[in-house]
Amino acid sequence: MDRLKEYKSKRKLAETGEPKGKTITSEEELNFVVQEHHATHLHYDFRLEHKGVLKSFAMPKTPSLNPAEKHLAIMVEDHPIDYQYFEGVIPEGHYGAGKVKIWDKGKYSVKNADTRNDSEKAIQAGLKNGLLEIVLHGKKLKGTFVLVKMKNFAQKDSWLFFKKQEKS
Ligand code: MN
Repeated sequence: MDRLKEYKSKRKLAETGEPKGKTITSEEELNFVVQEHHATHLHYDFRLEHKGVLKSFAMPKTPSLNPAEKHLAIMVEDHPIDYQYFEGVIPEGHYGAGKVKIWDKGKYSVKNADTRNDSEKAIQAGLKNGLLEIVLHGKKLKGTFVLVKMKNFAQKDSWLFFKKQEKS
């Protein structure tokens, strides 16, 4: 099964300059990226490397470091791993037309997971169960963040993204 089927079906990749898409599994630490995307509506695309693709969430608001600010994150189709490096302008008339630039990036990890394999397992379980806690090591986003899936919400694949309250 091609996990990037939806990604490819939405785009004319020969024309947009976006990554063509293949799944690559590296042994290194997992990366995350947040891309500022000036499409019809400005939004932030939060992407987490997981099992050779980027799990992706579109966030209408700027990610916040304030634990009280819980923002909507809509899960969208998996993106190819090299999309994390993409910056540029998706041409007019194409899916997601507009400027894309990297807002933040870095490694991410899962607490109590010592190996990449353990991390991948924890992430897989978290995505399935609708509760994922991750530690982001970005320039802007640092610390533990939570993604929690909203139940009984009109729009499917709606999650909330927020910084976890650190115990003082
Ligand atoms: Mn986008």
